[in-house]
Amino acid sequence: MRINRERLWEKQHEVGAIGAVKEGGVSRFAWTPEYKEACGKLMGWMEEIGLEVRMDTVGNIFGRYEGREELPAILCGSHFDTVPNGGYFDGLTGIMAALEAVTIMKEEGYKPRRPIEIVAFINEEASQFLGGTFGSKAMCGTLPEDYADTCCHRVTGEPLRRAMTEFGMGTDPDRIGASRIKPEDYFCFIEVHIEQGRYLLDKGIPLSVVSDIAGIKQFYIELHGVSCHAGGMAMKDRHDTLQAAAAIAVEVERLAMATGNDTRSTVGYIESKPGEHNIIANCSVLPVDYREADDKIWNRLYEDILDFVEKECGKRGLTWSVHSTCDLAPAHCNRKIMEVMEHAAEDLKIPHNEMVSFPCHDAVNMERILPIGMIFVRSSNGGLSHCPEEYTTKEDLGDSADVLLGTLKTLGETEKL
Ligand SMILES: [Zn+2]
Repeated sequence: MRINRERLWEKQHEVGAIGAVKEGGVSRFAWTPEYKEACGKLMGWMEEIGLEVRMDTVGNIFGRYEGREELPAILCGSHFDTVPNGGYFDGLTGIMAALEAVTIMKEEGYKPRRPIEIVAFINEEASQFLGGTFGSKAMCGTLPEDYADTCCHRVTGEPLRRAMTEFGMGTDPDRIGASRIKPEDYFCFIEVHIEQGRYLLDKGIPLSVVSDIAGIKQFYIELHGVSCHAGGMAMKDRHDTLQAAAAIAVEVERLAMATGNDTRSTVGYIESKPGEHNIIANCSVLPVDYREADDKIWNRLYEDILDFVEKECGKRGLTWSVHSTCDLAPAHCNRKIMEVMEHAAEDLKIPHNEMVSFPCHDAVNMERILPIGMIFVRSSNGGLSHCPEEYTTKEDLGDSADVLLGTLKTLGETEKL
């Protein structure tokens, strides 16, 4: 059994073009008229092949293919929204691969033991209503009940409540909690996604089985010292926050490189006040972002950074505070699912390897409640993504859908993970 590459490619482009903008690329944001049009198309295709189709109270779409037995279902899909001027492949690839895999099963009269449920998550990119991976958070029950009133459009300030109400299709800002799924109804979650980097391209490999998704930690360090005259005050008598901030930025990079685990850390800027040529800075703020797949290193790095801040501030007579804005622990793919994916690729003689995902995905939320597996497919155009140049070849797309089909067939008969 093999998927139909031509049909996959055509459908991917047909729905991918919805929300195309004249400056280039696609802007298909959650709860917009373009998004609704795309939903209609996808749900229509799901209905055509006889799936049981529904939209939940926040706008996630589900298409269910019943199995031979009433068992927990395999959930499989990705996100349906895009970044501003995004491409045809980010997110959409995982939904269209799942739809094609189930379409072929249906056409060949094949029914797995377990049901398969295709999912199209809403507002993963969160381009207008910030927050990220919204749809999967709602499904996992990690969104606050009043979110529709506290979350507002980043430009217009319009509350999410109004956007959801205008969108219709059964979305209900008063019933966000009803979109929560029961983990016992599901067996696992599988996501196919483009790599969004150039690792596979440089290796000359079309596919990778994801082993872990790096955790993300983002926080602000704020330092307080004393402003005074750049000439009058002797070096030994200063309480200079900018010098401390610079030393911390250097250390953040050094610590990440010293883990030996491909940790990625960034200090995006240093904001210092009063910001004058001849005045010592009395206040400096620096944002730290780091990503790491190993839980122990992920935790230790935070302690090591704060230890250094404490030491540096002690040396210079400064006070400091830390304000955390993102604290998403690493997610780990299920070993057995990874083996199933690897076997599926081997059966098809498709070269593959294993890799860590540094970008965050809906799979991170799903991992908190279900075993997960992810397949990465090569980003062919220089690894570019989140831009109109984003591209994956028809062959690679077909390979990823074929590996997904093999994976779903095996998992569909698997007793336990
Ligand atoms: Zn994505």
